[in-house]
Amino acid sequence: MTAQIIDGKAVALAIEQEVAVSISRLGFRPGLVAVRVGNDPASEIYVRNKAKKARELGLEGTELVHPETMSEAELLAEVARLNADEAVDGILVQLPLPKHIDARKVIDAIAPAKDVDGFHPVNVGLLHQGRTTLAPCTPAGVIRLIESTGEPIEGKHAVVIGRSDIVGKPMGALLLQRNATVTICHSKTRDLPAVAREADILVAAIGRPIVVTADFVKPGAVVIDVGMNRVERDFAPQIAHDADKTRLLEKNGSVLLGDVDYARVREIASWITPVPGGVGPMTIAMLMKNTVTAAERRRA
Ligand code: NAP
Repeated sequence: MTAQIIDGKAVALAIEQEVAVSISRLGFRPGLVAVRVGNDPASEIYVRNKAKKARELGLEGTELVHPETMSEAELLAEVARLNADEAVDGILVQLPLPKHIDARKVIDAIAPAKDVDGFHPVNVGLLHQGRTTLAPCTPAGVIRLIESTGEPIEGKHAVVIGRSDIVGKPMGALLLQRNATVTICHSKTRDLPAVAREADILVAAIGRPIVVTADFVKPGAVVIDVGMNRVERDFAPQIAHDADKTRLLEKNGSVLLGDVDYARVREIASWITPVPGGVGPMTIAMLMKNTVTAAERRRA
């Protein structure tokens, strides 16, 4: 069997269209503020892209950039100001923060109703109780990708590899809400391939290139690859079997890989997400969706 490909770009576009329709119904431009502290180059690109996408879709997207030297007290004061600003519906503080700032303290300070990343403990608690909340964007996007296949989630055995607060744990909670039987694995899981092989739905959120090989996958499983790992030429032997990735590596000197060995696993799975073009485009789309949802709940 060769898997069908789940097109994250197309699903993200559909969500963006939903967002644009919701905004036209609201009759005002929901405000999203992305706060960045310091000069982390990846954060710079993420924050710029989020604010830009917000503006494209008709939101009020603002990027607030502060120097590395900003103190924790100053950042907390900024968050308090945004919490009180009626025009601000969504606040996100880009992680990682400089070492002298306690990220937990900052996230705890964001008003839960404006916490569009879904990281505030109140929203995490609501999520785990199966109540209405703002769910973290990446796992919420994964649910939409699975739904786009038309395969039901209810009653399926879902195995999530990874237990981070931003992906693995909320992924497990969202799948459980949809009546999957959920197993969450991590670095201490014994015989990971055997556990993963039990999965009807396998979600890899590990952050290591192509660890999920064909022997992790039950024939016909739906496989979602959250991982994004950039590798360089020294990795060439491990991807020699993957002609497309090898060509890109030779051409560019580096290549983006998922946690899943796409070339081999796609021969076994029923559905699979590529990297890039799978989960990646969903995260920003779900952030826009959460911002509109926050605006609807707070102001509509
Ligand atoms: P993380 O905080 O580093 O968590 C990784 C998880 O994987 C941990 O729970 C860890 O277990 C587990 N793990 C590590 N090595 C393992 C192994 N050999 N076997 C089994 N489990 C293992 O990472 P994250 O923030 O969740 O992100 C995971 C990946 O998703 C990264 O590649 C990241 O770049 C990507 N990501 C993509 C998007 C997107 O928009 N596409 C968004 C977020 C993250 P322990 O808990 O035992 O250490």
